[in-house]
Amino acid sequence: PAKGALLLEVDAVRKAFGGLVAVNDVSFALRAGDIFGLIGPNGAGKSTTFNLITGVLALTSGQVRFNGQRIDGLPSRTIARRGISRTFQHVKMIPEMTVLENVALGGYLRTESGAVRAMLRLDRAEERRLFAEAEAQLQRIGLADRMHELAGNLALGPQRLMEIARALCTDPALLLLDEPAAGLRLKEKEALAAVLRQLKAEGLSILLVEHDMDFVMGLVDRIVVMEFGTRLIEGTPEEVQASPAVRAAYLGT
Ligand code: ADP
Ligand code: MG
Repeated sequence: PAKGALLLEVDAVRKAFGGLVAVNDVSFALRAGDIFGLIGPNGAGKSTTFNLITGVLALTSGQVRFNGQRIDGLPSRTIARRGISRTFQHVKMIPEMTVLENVALGGYLRTESGAVRAMLRLDRAEERRLFAEAEAQLQRIGLADRMHELAGNLALGPQRLMEIARALCTDPALLLLDEPAAGLRLKEKEALAAVLRQLKAEGLSILLVEHDMDFVMGLVDRIVVMEFGTRLIEGTPEEVQASPAVRAAYLGT
């Protein structure tokens, strides 16, 4: 998709869990080449929105379009193949395996079949291809020098980068990151921000769920703010920071 073209359209998306409306007719649109922030307090419906976009959860109502085509109702594997990749709020890895192995087997770790069965089924050529791609993506995000370490021995910052490398292996046009900066030290946050800026410069579009306002404001082109499942405001960081409702809810002023 050309830079500036509509890439992801979230249109009046709703998700009810019984009587609880976790996402209440939320709309926003992400243009190709942008880093788009999705912010809001705990329980606002951010992760649920991610799960609706990626097909992990079925919508109660609304539409999601990617490159102009409806993707709501498609299986998550199909949505991934169309070019949307994601990380989860909690790092998913096998700590006893190396960073490289975790990245190479990412697609399989996410399926129910499990890594070991997946490895047994891989033929040599496919295995070589997965590991070459994993190494290339680790190089891309600056983690290749640690690829032979056990994933469990890495600090949280490098573990989050490892997850991003894994998400990049499917060559997505859009990367969804669920709270990648949560729990990171300042230096780790800076390293993460640098990687995200680099990926944007390479043409990738990013939808970023984040709790940390300072981290988001310096990084994103546009932001949507959610609260109690609804969209509070959508706009540039400047517009959002100037909004009285947002100031009241998040900045305490
Ligand atoms: P956020 O990511 O913004 O912290 P979530 O999307 O995880 O918020 O959750 C939004 C609301 O939906 C919360 O009240 C949460 O308890 C509820 N919720 C999330 N997932 C489920 C589920 N699978 N079943 C029932 N309620 C859920
Ligand atoms: Mg969440």
